Amino acid sequence: MRAMVLHAPGAPLKAAELPDPEPQPGQALLRVLACGVCRTDLHVVDGELAHPKLPLVPGHEIVAEVVASAGRFAPGDHVGVPWLGWTCGECRYCLTGHENLCDRARFTGYDLDGGYAELCAADERFCFPLPVSLGAVEAAPLLCAGLIGYRSLRLAGDAARVGLYGFGAAAHIVCQVAVHEGREVYALTRPGDVEAQAFARSLGATWAGDTAEGPPVELDAAILYAPAGELVPTALAHVRKGGVVVCAGIHMSDIPSFRYELLWGERVVRSVANLTRADGEHFLALAPKVPVRTHVEPVPLARANEALARLRAGAVRGALVLVP
Ligand SMILES: [Zn+2]
Ligand SMILES: [Zn+2]
Repeated sequence: MRAMVLHAPGAPLKAAELPDPEPQPGQALLRVLACGVCRTDLHVVDGELAHPKLPLVPGHEIVAEVVASAGRFAPGDHVGVPWLGWTCGECRYCLTGHENLCDRARFTGYDLDGGYAELCAADERFCFPLPVSLGAVEAAPLLCAGLIGYRSLRLAGDAARVGLYGFGAAAHIVCQVAVHEGREVYALTRPGDVEAQAFARSLGATWAGDTAEGPPVELDAAILYAPAGELVPTALAHVRKGGVVVCAGIHMSDIPSFRYELLWGERVVRSVANLTRADGEHFLALAPKVPVRTHVEPVPLARANEALARLRAGAVRGALVLVP
């Protein structure tokens, strides 16, 4: 099969012809229809996440057709493969509904080969059934940007005024869900990105502006999708007493020190780590009711490096999706 392979962090992916994956017990063999390009892939390729399997096929927003199943699916079924690829099922986290924190979790496109390929193998217990009618390219960003975005919104509690910092693939989906739930969305972009601000307004944001200017009202919650630690004190200054700042990315630059006064008043700073299968089931049931419309641009698999470079440069509206 053709695949794009990471041999060393910091180096471009290389196109390769690999042997077809051999599914292990419990795994399905899948033909990849589409695989979204996530910021986490960038952190892996750039070496900001420390221990990827090498060589590695990245990619964890996979929409695929089942070629051979271990029993859960039928050939021809469509499934989604997310970041959470395997958990131990027996640690304190797995046993208490927090499998996203499993001590031995394995992640797709990091510990396990992912979807930047024509074929992949995945543990069926961690795949989500998808309707065949759903467009593969449109659905791909739901598998991480949508799903972990949804978890970050849940962790913002019942906040009526939600600030979204960094308006990329996750925020463009979360904005639609939050508006559907009757919340007001305040979109904060990097200074000068008026195009992203207009995009946010077109998706129902009450207000859009830049992080330096700040929102025109006090927020109940702020969700940070941009991996910039300096946004933590900025966002704390924008949330009301008792409000929460949710850091939704897997990697962030260092958070500068700040006055305790910013945290005082029972403000909370927390992170979001990974997803549980329950998050996926809830979100994928909710998405068609919103309905979530993803803004996607298909890119041929062979041009994965170009797609990553555009994401790194912030030159993407919505999400890029690789098509083998
Ligand atoms: Zn576990
Ligand atoms: Zn992701």
